[in-house]
Amino acid sequence: MAIDKYKIVIGCEIHCQLTTKTKAFCACENRYGGMPNTRVCPACLGLPGAMPRVNKGYIEMGIIAGKALNCKISNYAKFDRKHYFYPDLTKGYQNTQQDNPLCTDGFVDLPYIRLSENLRKGGNDWVGENFAGNNNDIDGKYKRVRIERIHMEEDVGKSLHLEGKYSYIDFNRSGTPLIEIVTKPDMNSPEEAALFMETVQEILRYVQVTNGNLEEGNMRCDANINLSIWENGKIYHTPISEIKNLNSFRAIKDACSYEVKRQLDEFINDRKEFDSGFKNTMGWDEANGKTIIQRTKNSFVDYRFTTEPDIIPFIVTDEFISNASKKVGELPEAKRNRFKNEYGLSDFDVQTLTSSRDLSLWFEEAAKLSIDVKKTANLILAELLAVLNEKAITISKINIIPKHIAQLSNAMAENKITSKQAKEVFADMMESTKFPDEIIAKKGMVVVSDTDTIVNFVKQVLEENPQAVADFKNGKTNVFGWLMGQVMKKSGGKANPKSATELLNAELERI
Ligand SMILES: [Zn+2]
Repeated sequence: MAIDKYKIVIGCEIHCQLTTKTKAFCACENRYGGMPNTRVCPACLGLPGAMPRVNKGYIEMGIIAGKALNCKISNYAKFDRKHYFYPDLTKGYQNTQQDNPLCTDGFVDLPYIRLSENLRKGGNDWVGENFAGNNNDIDGKYKRVRIERIHMEEDVGKSLHLEGKYSYIDFNRSGTPLIEIVTKPDMNSPEEAALFMETVQEILRYVQVTNGNLEEGNMRCDANINLSIWENGKIYHTPISEIKNLNSFRAIKDACSYEVKRQLDEFINDRKEFDSGFKNTMGWDEANGKTIIQRTKNSFVDYRFTTEPDIIPFIVTDEFISNASKKVGELPEAKRNRFKNEYGLSDFDVQTLTSSRDLSLWFEEAAKLSIDVKKTANLILAELLAVLNEKAITISKINIIPKHIAQLSNAMAENKITSKQAKEVFADMMESTKFPDEIIAKKGMVVVSDTDTIVNFVKQVLEENPQAVADFKNGKTNVFGWLMGQVMKKSGGKANPKSATELLNAELERI
């Protein structure tokens, strides 16, 4: 008995809360937290006779999400009741879309560059086909994961098990608009599943349909995973595990990695094989780093789906779809490609600058005012982000505007100040929020570009360091940087670095 190889197969279901002003089927405010049971009405409490009304913004956000994830949008919308009993679901059913999802047939492209090398095209663990056996490689740059459907749902209330003998229920969350994104089982590694979630989070945040805060439960992922195992030339499949409610990228990766090992062991030791009728429902125990079987169920559970009689199926017009589609805007990957082409920035820089929509817009505003966009990008990446990190704030909370950074960048590009002086100006600017031009004028900062003065500095340095000069002459060209440092030091950091480099070079050649 020998296992020749195995393939991991993962499909995801992501629940994502939408940021509409009001709940899905009533006028209660849609917001996280607050005093329990302060944002409720007969409809979202599930009182008998209360009538639901579909919120237009809810459908609009569903369309925006669907378009951003490359889906087809249905012109026909219908809701269904999914019946089950749970204390936080007083209606006894959840409103969902069973057989007519709003969005179908989409996809998400995962950039290889954000995966380990072994998972990229041609890598040892690369799987170049999707679950249907078709090529999933896009231009040697992306792995395509197909989205089967996105349907509209509502969240339920929240049970609170506090100290003492009682449990409590908070219905503020009841009726919160949700979408459920269901993929085909096109992912083949825990890393890809985590990147999928990360990519979807980034896209849906860009199009502003969700806050996407995993810690607040805005997005949760269920991962379905099993293995195809080749043994002595025969192929076997392990039983599917559905790991519920993964609420961090780390948890997705760790839980799937654990399941791979567990299923492999189970196959080797107990010869457990796939049975289409059954799957294991698992939870992830983060503290102990293992999955726990919650129930082994028949995968067909009778939810007694019926069309929701209180919401008459309705037409979503082409005009409504087209207006919603206009709100999608530029998506993160398109923005990254444009930043690379337009500004000549590196993959790494572009990734950071587009990590949030706000930061990317802030950068672009600064870029528009800049002579040298690379310099501006560097100032943001090296200096500004360090301040944001230190203060633990986002770009929207910073006390300067893009013009500040652009002006500083331009002063450097025009050789009005050296990079050493720029650091001083930056610190002052962050403190006082004054514009760099004003700070430079006030401090009387000047760059020495006068050739005679710089040549003097150069000559002094060469005289004082004969050994370094000899080393340079003997081919140790890396001494040059050190000599440049000495020249800059001698000038008090004020020498125009470009002229100083040229003059030092010329002087070294002459002697
Ligand atoms: Zn309500």
